[in-house]
Amino acid sequence: MINAKTDHQQAKLQNRDFILRTIFDHAPLSRADIARRTHLTRTTVSAQVAALLAEGLVEEVGFGPSSGGKAPILLQVANDARYLISLNLAYDRFTGAIINLAGEIKTSIQRPVKGQQGSEAQELVCDILEHLLQQAWQPIVGIGISTPGLVNTREGRIIQAVNLGWKEFPLARNLAERYGLPVVLLNDSQAAAIGEFRYGGWQVDNLLVVNVRHGIGAGLLIQGKLFQGDNNAAGEIGHLVVEPQGRLCRCGRRGCLETVASASAIRILVQTLAPRFPTTLPIKPPEALTPQTLGTAFAAGDPLAEKVMGDAAFHLGRTLAHLTAMLDTNTILLTGDAPYFGPAWLSRIQQTMRDAMLISVAPQISLYPGRLPFARACLLGAAAYMLLDNYRLLYLHSS
Ligand SMILES: [Zn+2]
Repeated sequence: MINAKTDHQQAKLQNRDFILRTIFDHAPLSRADIARRTHLTRTTVSAQVAALLAEGLVEEVGFGPSSGGKAPILLQVANDARYLISLNLAYDRFTGAIINLAGEIKTSIQRPVKGQQGSEAQELVCDILEHLLQQAWQPIVGIGISTPGLVNTREGRIIQAVNLGWKEFPLARNLAERYGLPVVLLNDSQAAAIGEFRYGGWQVDNLLVVNVRHGIGAGLLIQGKLFQGDNNAAGEIGHLVVEPQGRLCRCGRRGCLETVASASAIRILVQTLAPRFPTTLPIKPPEALTPQTLGTAFAAGDPLAEKVMGDAAFHLGRTLAHLTAMLDTNTILLTGDAPYFGPAWLSRIQQTMRDAMLISVAPQISLYPGRLPFARACLLGAAAYMLLDNYRLLYLHSS
């Protein structure tokens, strides 16, 4: 049961969150600026700013222009008042970083993954965390983790990450118990989407970010919040069947989007179809088939690149058209390996998408390459997720 006092405290904390968010987004601001932007009373703003100053979370940074009377004091977030640890668990290496409130990476550390699985892989995570927790950047208020595979974010559980041997693995709970800190867990597509949203400079309310790498996944922010769906599976577009008679997918079905349009599928298909189409592409060794090499060949009209990447663009574009029919998000980003395939491929995907959409809406919806390198977007996003819709873990001294 919620009593009146709890309601009152909740309202105070919500106001404080709202004021802190406003300062995060628009600093430097005076108290009067904050009252105007939030529509809260001057008294409420002054009281909550005093609490934030006492917490050390905001600081006064000189004076703004006077509008006749006393010049107003300006406020901004004290970027180094708190730190977050972020981990990006890629298949081949784990990266950990300490990040401040402005999203600046203070230090980072990498450990190669050399076949560690299950609890050994968790020990590798702990090794990184213990190294970071001993550093001078304090206080650390939470740990955010970006991982490949299927994740139940609400329960902090990895449903399946094949290469790391984790199945129904409660990684967040294990780490929270061990280190006494809040821990959040996201899949890498969701983390990258938050990283782009918060630090990519897009200035939008809604953002769809599609990650094309070994697999294909998407992260969706609606009104600034990550949308995860009822089963934590929002954005799992890689296993939509687009060619029912197509190639076998790692999920056991045939013709999933991943089997025709992921970066790995494109490489495999180029090698498979090489005998049937003229090409200037280097087929061997496989490492020579980089996204850049493939993108250049596609832009130059190479018949093999056109066949494989044209098909991939078709299926990606059609899938995006379906998504935007439901979501109507003007800004769609491609991240992961996709940006490295170059502008010709991206514009082909965009054209296919627009051709399959409602004509009156199509010109408004645009596809862009992500602005942050994928691994960086994951690191920043996993940390930022903890602060997306509440700042409670930042309040150490008051409630
Ligand atoms: Zn599949």
